[in-house]
Amino acid sequence: MHRSDLLSRLDDTSERWDVVIVGGGATGLGIAVDAASRGYRTVLLEQADFAEGTSSKSTKLIHGGVRYLRSGEVSLVRESLRERGHLLRNAPNLVKPLSFVVPAYRWYEPFFYGSGLTLYDLLAGDLGIGATEHLSSPETLSRISNLRKEGLYGSTFYWDGQFDDARLAMAMVKTAVSEGACVLNHVKVERLEKTGDRITGLIARDQIGGGEYALSAKIVINATGAFSDSIRRLDDSGAAPVIAPSQGIHIVLDQKFLGGQTGVMIPKTDDGRVLFAIPWHNRMLLGTTDTGGVPVELNPKPLEAEIDYLIDHAGRYLSDRPRHEDIKATFAGLRPLVKPSGDMGETSRLSRSHSIFVSKSGLLTVGGGKWTTYRQMAEDAVDRAAELADLKPEPCLTHELRLDDECPKSKGAALGEDLPYTMGDAVAAVREEMAMTLTDVLSRRLRATFLDEAATLKAAPGVAKMMAGELGRDDQWIREQLAVLKEMAPS
Ligand SMILES: Cc1cc2nc3c(=O)[nH]c(=O)nc-3n(C[C@H](O)[C@H](O)[C@H](O)COP(=O)(O)OP(=O)(O)OC[C@H]3O[C@@H](n4cnc5c(N)ncnc54)[C@H](O)[C@@H]3O)c2cc1C
Repeated sequence: MHRSDLLSRLDDTSERWDVVIVGGGATGLGIAVDAASRGYRTVLLEQADFAEGTSSKSTKLIHGGVRYLRSGEVSLVRESLRERGHLLRNAPNLVKPLSFVVPAYRWYEPFFYGSGLTLYDLLAGDLGIGATEHLSSPETLSRISNLRKEGLYGSTFYWDGQFDDARLAMAMVKTAVSEGACVLNHVKVERLEKTGDRITGLIARDQIGGGEYALSAKIVINATGAFSDSIRRLDDSGAAPVIAPSQGIHIVLDQKFLGGQTGVMIPKTDDGRVLFAIPWHNRMLLGTTDTGGVPVELNPKPLEAEIDYLIDHAGRYLSDRPRHEDIKATFAGLRPLVKPSGDMGETSRLSRSHSIFVSKSGLLTVGGGKWTTYRQMAEDAVDRAAELADLKPEPCLTHELRLDDECPKSKGAALGEDLPYTMGDAVAAVREEMAMTLTDVLSRRLRATFLDEAATLKAAPGVAKMMAGELGRDDQWIREQLAVLKEMAPS
């Protein structure tokens, strides 16, 4: 999979693409896999790296969303549990079952959570992972040794799915390319082109080489998550906003703060949210928050108040309480939530989890949703796109489509004591997985900045030098790349 080969496919201006997708996160990549596997001529353009937006910054759970049961959204939970089942089967190297406990510090909580989670199992039907059980207090502590013992009545033990988000995105890139799609990172869509009042193509610019590309398209799909309104405004400068982004952050701690391979679900925080503490790549991830009114940025920064909130809540449930100086990494993402309907005459709401909007000129925008349901979102979007663009109807094949989820494994010198990677892994990311920048390698092909910012900064100069050799770059490029990394992972 070579970026230059894929880029050269854009040179052929005689090609009229069936489907052109803007945005290379979970939503856009899901659509690319779906459209290409139906045989449609498909291109996807991502302005930065694959999954560099929200899709690398999730809680990394493939889950039904237990909390939606509380709000009575049973159909959403059922849909998500079905998709969880598909993903466990179609990407088994990247999506795995993970056990959880919901600790009970009030006598009635085991009954309350036990009945809710038993319903959760029932909704999963044949695609269930394992049965919900009650654990006594000693059984709970044998799984999560750092859980606060005082007042613990036991816990409800249940199963869900866990994954590596940016790696799953890469599996989708590889699968889409092997199905015939042209999928490119670092190509930004700058303008939409119209013939009369219909969108018939777009103009995009390669952010690495600087070249401009004009693409002709039967349909353009806007899959830009929190950025959706900016693309809608390229179509119609007066388009009403449909997305209300909400920021969620995570902090990453040593796994000793969890003390086991089971996750903890805290069902109710001060502001009525669910909080997860989960094992991930030998660390503990703790999140998340829900902060509205934030600007739309590719790499938003966690707010101090959000970090304090997580540290404070962790301290209430853990014996050995984490402090700010224990934090190894932080990351923030923007949920692309669909605004509650206002002026949304063009909306066709397909399910509670996501919405599809079609503008007068034919721009199809897919909003909302979550990683877990990306396949269903893609199926709905491509069905609608085929109708609008008058493509030959083809059935969706992704229920059964195995994703190319092998990670290149290489030998070589370790990147650092605290990082589970080798220099060979970094080389493979450049040679085989279209990594073009230092953070493409260190944040998404490898997850180093997400695991340990200080250790990553130590390893970075060697990786940047290797990349400069591979990509024919100079010392100035190395300095720029290191500066970008330092800004993103200040440590
Ligand atoms: C804190 C948090 C935790 C979450 N946890 C979970 C979880 O555990 N499980 C789950 O199922 N879901 C989870 N979600 C939801 C899930 O992560 C998102 O719904 C999903 O990643 C959104 O994907 P997307 O492709 O729509 O958006 P994005 O991943 O943001 O992708 C949009 C892309 O469009 C690109 N783009 C923008 N403008 C242009 C342009 N002009 N040209 C080309 N490209 C452009 C951007 O660069 C970006 O990469 C979580 C979300 C958050 C915020």
